[in-house]
Amino acid sequence: MSSPAPTLVRGACPHDCPDTCALVTTVQEGRAVKLQGNPEHRHTAGVLCTKVSRYIERNDHPERLVQPLRRAGPKGSGRFEPVSWDEALHDIAARLGAIARRAPQAIVPYSYAGTMGLVQGESMDRRFFHKLGASLLDRTICATAGGEALAHTLGGKVGMRVEFFAEAKLILIWGSNSIGSNLHFWRHAQAARRAGARLVCIDPRRTETADKCDEHIALLPGTDGALALALMHELVVNDWLDHDYIARHTLGWERLRERALQWPPERAAAVCGVPAPQIRDLARAYGTTKPAAIRLNYGVQRVRGGGNAVRAIACLPALVGAWRQRAGGVLLSSGGHFPVDRAALQRPDLLAGRRPRTVNMVRIGDALAGDAGALSGGPPIEAIVVYNSNPVAVAPESAKVAAGFAREDLFTVVLEQFQTDTADHADYLLPATTQLEHWDIHASYGHTDVLLNRPAVAPRGQARSNAWVFRELARRMGFDEPCFADDDEALCRQAFAPGAIDWAALERDGFASVPLPEAPFAEGGFPTPSGQCEFFSERLAAQGLDGLPDHVPNHEPAGSSSAFPLAMISPPARNFLNSTFVNVKSLRSIEGEPLLEIHADDAGARGIADGAMVRVFNARGEYRCRAEVSRRARPGVVNGLGVWWRKLGADGTNVNQLTSQHLTDIGRGPTFYDCLVQVEPA
Ligand code: SF4
Repeated sequence: MSSPAPTLVRGACPHDCPDTCALVTTVQEGRAVKLQGNPEHRHTAGVLCTKVSRYIERNDHPERLVQPLRRAGPKGSGRFEPVSWDEALHDIAARLGAIARRAPQAIVPYSYAGTMGLVQGESMDRRFFHKLGASLLDRTICATAGGEALAHTLGGKVGMRVEFFAEAKLILIWGSNSIGSNLHFWRHAQAARRAGARLVCIDPRRTETADKCDEHIALLPGTDGALALALMHELVVNDWLDHDYIARHTLGWERLRERALQWPPERAAAVCGVPAPQIRDLARAYGTTKPAAIRLNYGVQRVRGGGNAVRAIACLPALVGAWRQRAGGVLLSSGGHFPVDRAALQRPDLLAGRRPRTVNMVRIGDALAGDAGALSGGPPIEAIVVYNSNPVAVAPESAKVAAGFAREDLFTVVLEQFQTDTADHADYLLPATTQLEHWDIHASYGHTDVLLNRPAVAPRGQARSNAWVFRELARRMGFDEPCFADDDEALCRQAFAPGAIDWAALERDGFASVPLPEAPFAEGGFPTPSGQCEFFSERLAAQGLDGLPDHVPNHEPAGSSSAFPLAMISPPARNFLNSTFVNVKSLRSIEGEPLLEIHADDAGARGIADGAMVRVFNARGEYRCRAEVSRRARPGVVNGLGVWWRKLGADGTNVNQLTSQHLTDIGRGPTFYDCLVQVEPA
């Protein structure tokens, strides 16, 4: 008898990546046998990155969690015993309920972008915690510095459309290793280059992307704002300005002009660690090439002055009138173009007038340790529910985070696909479905299409979707509002108001475009309060902050400490996505082991040979890994590639042992790339 014909199921990549690819899964006899990029989706064009090409390996991984587990050893031991769903949910509901009756804010949800799906990431979970009156979580760990900076400049996470980069004549790839983390944009950049465009990469690390650009500007970490101000200086003194655009569509020009004139290239060169002629040359190119486009990414904003740096860079296109053309402008995130109905999904009305305290996820180490500031003056944390995140590995200053999760008096529930570092610390570890097994709907932060994800296969073992878990907990806690009965498919439909997107196209094709002009700000119309590109932000000034963008030095500026003379950044290893995929053997074997890239001069001065084990340390801790003497590191800066699971590291730690819980100037974000260290042979 011949086997039944395979079926093709359309979906969306769930990972924290701007490309939001459309997937097609081939299913044969109930098993996913092939996963491809959807060739009909113009942004995916049939191509997936290496990581997600291995998604079936990840889905079928022998170490997938397939049944609920209860802790059976000391906290953090990773020892568990099987338990039924019914028993697990009953006990979790009882224990959370007991805390909620006394002090609901002592319960903290902890989640981020382990899936970018609106249903499995920010729907039933939020309803559940809102009804409970739990603490709110400030989800700052990646993008809020840049996001809020954009909001204060352009009015939101808005920008040029990615497909038109292919027509630009100059592209600044600023703080982005596009080949590793924005592959589909890189295709447009290559098309532009074939048509004669110049590509300039601005990044402390000589990435694979920098290798392939016409020029690489290897500035010191945290000095991007100074570089942008020096570019402005040159635009002003050489009059490479679009006076008409500035007059009609910007706010605060005279004040910005004065600020820019304080930043001649020589001043910026001293701060950035790059030659002044290179800055002058870049300014000339930016001021005289049309259309000029900037692909900015979030690496820039993981330093103290990250918000100001993004503001300064986001001002540049208006100065030269780049927005007039569809291939001109800047793109950091397109997320603000989507009319997501978050109130319908998350139901903040369930708070019923209560205003719980907010815990900043970047400071979870301090918060679990009882620091009053990190707790926003609220009660100590008694319970934490973690999903779509692996804070023990990814949150900064991880020795404190691990110590916090090791508290015997902390009740910890973790929803996960694998036994991560955080899962090791759970009291209950609940098996979560993968993207091949559940419904979801996705916006994007790199393009402007909505994608629908249908389940392709049945969940492995007893795995269940996040929304299912919170629905069941709500039922057991007696939450009887009808919204707690919405199933996952119904939640997909609630993510956008009726008529906001073409649902028929979404169901038919798996994707649907948000209607947008080709050059959204050609005639101004920025979504700021003034409708202008706000060089000067009254809203920032009202908060007591500088209304103009400036260079704000790092908390730990390069060269400021003799004990810790090297600046460290910790970009993702190419085959990992934050801490996801570290346990996929085929990808881990490409990466080998945790590495620190170090320049030959810095290695030579310390007697460090290529391939030697090194001790990387600062006042917060130490981390052992292998050194790679590499041209990817500039002198004075080391690159600690992340984010490895701690338990796979040489001494049970990872690079976040060294990072700090200091915050950014705007947006309360993390400062992972604002970190001084010393390195010595281990
Ligand atoms: S490129 Fe990004 S969106 Fe596309 S498959 Fe890879 S991780 Fe997913």
